[in-house]
Amino acid sequence: MHKGQIPHPTRSHESAKKATLQIRFVIVGGGASGLSCAVALRRVGHHVIVLEKGPDFIGPSKNRGIRMSPNMTKVFNYWGMRDKVDEIGIVTDRVIMSRLETAYLLGIHCWEHEMLQEAGGEFIAICHGDLRDMLLETARELGAETRTNAEVVEIAEDCRSVRLASGEVLKADIIIGADGSQGICRALVVPQDPPKTTGIMLFNSVIPADRIYADPELRSLVEQEQVSQWAWFGHERASVCFPIGPSKDLAWYFFVRDQGAQEGWNDVLTPEQFAPYVSDSEPRLQKLARLARPNRVRMMQRDFPESWVHDSDRLVVVGSAAHPWPPGVIYGPSMSLEDASVLAKLFSHLRNEEQIPSFLYAFQNLREERCQKNRELDIGNVQFMMEPEGEGTAQRDTMMRTKHDQGRNVLAGDDEDSNVAQWDQNRELFAYDAEDEADNWWVQWGLLQERSKASTHEDIGMFSLDISVGIS
Ligand SMILES: Cc1cc2nc3c(=O)[nH]c(=O)nc-3n(C[C@H](O)[C@H](O)[C@H](O)COP(=O)(O)OP(=O)(O)OC[C@H]3O[C@@H](n4cnc5c(N)ncnc54)[C@H](O)[C@@H]3O)c2cc1C
Repeated sequence: MHKGQIPHPTRSHESAKKATLQIRFVIVGGGASGLSCAVALRRVGHHVIVLEKGPDFIGPSKNRGIRMSPNMTKVFNYWGMRDKVDEIGIVTDRVIMSRLETAYLLGIHCWEHEMLQEAGGEFIAICHGDLRDMLLETARELGAETRTNAEVVEIAEDCRSVRLASGEVLKADIIIGADGSQGICRALVVPQDPPKTTGIMLFNSVIPADRIYADPELRSLVEQEQVSQWAWFGHERASVCFPIGPSKDLAWYFFVRDQGAQEGWNDVLTPEQFAPYVSDSEPRLQKLARLARPNRVRMMQRDFPESWVHDSDRLVVVGSAAHPWPPGVIYGPSMSLEDASVLAKLFSHLRNEEQIPSFLYAFQNLREERCQKNRELDIGNVQFMMEPEGEGTAQRDTMMRTKHDQGRNVLAGDDEDSNVAQWDQNRELFAYDAEDEADNWWVQWGLLQERSKASTHEDIGMFSLDISVGIS
């Protein structure tokens, strides 16, 4: 256990409540969402096949760092996967905030023990590819079938089967569209889908630890008493870096105003091409820029579909297919894991096929507002760091530094402070418990619907039994 790690309840794979009726889910897409759904649905006993069009499940995400927030690590804690997470991730203790142009220290915020305890998880930095690998391994251990080079090219009108590029047809009771923001499943629920810019462009890279350690000034970014994330607040620019996993390779994000670029992950810059964007930044950032080969990614966003459930009532979209998330912010992957957790918890109550539509619509109801709100918050966090210089930012910086000089956490304190107000919204987000949300729906609505359908005394008895197991 990591020093200071908070104790957390575990609901092991074996002890998870299994569905009475176990059906076949075909998951289109083997990204973080598809693989999370595979783990979650196998935990509750359903049959799962994951179809990934790429030659492997990792793809170009091998070399990218992400920050898992407490609401995400909480799910892994519940699922009894914490040991696996600790092998590949690193718990971060605090964030150090500075001005981007001058390195002037604004302050430090250590994650409060009370907040982490309430959330039931911690901040853990991890390589995106390792996350996918861990989910894949667990899905397979639990008996999920997983296939690569398996592109789904057609979905039957009734959504009861998919056809692969090879011509093979696979039958499904339910299709999970986890094929990202530009996939075939999403196109079935949102035919027209023009992306909009967030106004931000991201340079994203991971710099190997040996190159960081070779420079004493850069070494200080990873060699701290406590594991630290770094955040730089600048005029129309911002930056974040953090070590990922035990290797201490350094993930580095640099944000500028959108100047037009590709949306995907294929636009790789040389240090020379990157240098002009980083000019006038503090020396450590300029040094990082000389070591980086960043992807330039335009941070786009798409609308959420009005309905996440296809008219056939047999296909539902999840993850980026349901709530496309711009890259480089924090909460996208955590929303995918929460999706999986809620969906599986609902389907752990499956006793007959008539329940399927209500479970799928309940899934959207439970997830939509939260994802919408958190996407705004996530983008807002970056906007907040890169606000143009002026009276407002000067005041913000003075408040932070004053607290720091008083020996306080910079984001703790009075509500008047806009920094604190921004942080409070983030804190709220961490406390969410995906499985509890699904259980509450079952108790308040699901069971009521079942009761109204049940005609025999015996049936009512069985549903009552289901509640006690479900919320234990
Ligand atoms: C290469 C890559 C790198 C990323 N790096 C970062 C990062 O550094 N930081 C960050 O915050 N976020 C990153 N993201 C985004 C992040 O992974 C997602 O926001 C989040 O994890 C949810 O992913 P998802 O599984 O819903 O969608 P995606 O990650 O888009 O996965 C969708 C999967 O479906 C597969 N697929 C699509 N169509 C089909 C089909 N017809 N048949 C079969 N398979 C299909 C795709 O190949 C892909 O593997 C990255 C995403 C990708 C794809």
